[in-house]
Amino acid sequence: MPRDIPTLLHDIFGFTTFRGVQEQVVGRVMAGQPTLAIMPTGAGKSLCYQLPAVALDGCCVVVSPLIALMHDQLRAATAVGIRAASLTSVDADWRETQDRLRNGELDLLYVAPERASGEGFRNLLRSAKVALFAIDEAHCVSEWGHDFRPDYRLLRPLLDEFPDVPRLALTATADAHTRKDILVQLGIPEDGLIISGFDRPNIRYAVHPRDGLTRQLADLLAANPGPGVVYAPTRAATEKLAETLGRGGRAVRAYHAGMDPAQRAANQAAFIASEDMVMVATVAFGMGIDKPDVRFVAHAGLPKSIEGYYQESGRAGRDGEPAIAHLFWGAEDFARARQRIMELEPARQQGERARIAALGALVETATCRRAILLRHFGENPPATCGNCDNCLTPPASVDATETARKYLSA
Ligand code: ADP
Ligand code: MG
Repeated sequence: MPRDIPTLLHDIFGFTTFRGVQEQVVGRVMAGQPTLAIMPTGAGKSLCYQLPAVALDGCCVVVSPLIALMHDQLRAATAVGIRAASLTSVDADWRETQDRLRNGELDLLYVAPERASGEGFRNLLRSAKVALFAIDEAHCVSEWGHDFRPDYRLLRPLLDEFPDVPRLALTATADAHTRKDILVQLGIPEDGLIISGFDRPNIRYAVHPRDGLTRQLADLLAANPGPGVVYAPTRAATEKLAETLGRGGRAVRAYHAGMDPAQRAANQAAFIASEDMVMVATVAFGMGIDKPDVRFVAHAGLPKSIEGYYQESGRAGRDGEPAIAHLFWGAEDFARARQRIMELEPARQQGERARIAALGALVETATCRRAILLRHFGENPPATCGNCDNCLTPPASVDATETARKYLSA
């Protein structure tokens, strides 16, 4: 994935990490691969085309079924500085929008399916540079879907006229039958299907108070022979830990953004090719690195947010085979987090506080970790998962650490 994607994610949208399959979907779009993304409501589908729309040269044409929806999105996109417009019956500035499109001055153009499929619009696109077709609420293309709209069926000739322009279909609701229909109707190959849902059932979650971290990690490495990533809080810590852990006989390397680029690339390549290497890294490691057989991820300290924890731990077990996510934390992590929050602009403090509080709940709970994580992402999981430390070995008594709460109640 190009380097500037994380920068854009942060600078334009204000997010530090992708959520769920966003990273994967954006990666596919940037690589020009046709994709159908099934993501639950609130998962952040818009970002999957808005970010590439800004990153790519040319305009992203977004097909959306409702004028109200388009204008909501338009307002939000314009507010963060994205050059966006719509061509609907209630827009008065058609001529200006068409000129902007032809002059390459638009990142996003919203249209309804009936407009998009018309000859006039197709003519317009012939005189413009189109970077991406995004088909929102793509279940509307299927008669099996709950909201069939015949106009969606007419999109195919438009898409096919621009065979080099990648197409991204998005929906929150699609059963297996509808999914298949969307793929066929929009000409997206089966391997372009990305299904989210936040649960990663093959990942076992385990949380430990830090208590002799080096020994804890050495034990972990001894028990887990496969490839693993240890996330350390600082660049210096990655190098120090890599050296110490490497003495145990395992192939261990470090990775952080401050390293000599050639060394960093070599370490990454070695890790990708290896079946037993451990990478001790800052969170700079992972973005766009798709190694399917990572067997464990360990956080040597508290992640920045519960979203970050989900994303980083989610790099384990992409092949669907059993994998473990360990988190080692100490009270001082919360003290440091609180310090970091106090240095932020006041407007951002509350949100950050909530993200750290969510982590506090995750590490302190005597109940199912997965349930806490999934509830944070708006899901409604069962009370026990059977594959986290608390479900497998219920704590005898609640580990009554009040530290997190204490440090957070400023
Ligand atoms: P959907 O279309 O899937 O229902 P939206 O695109 O409307 O979801 O996004 C839902 C919410 O999630 C929005 O408030 C958006 O700002 C937020 N969001 C999207 N991506 C991220 C992210 N990577 N980190 C944090 N919040 C995000
Ligand atoms: Mg949406």
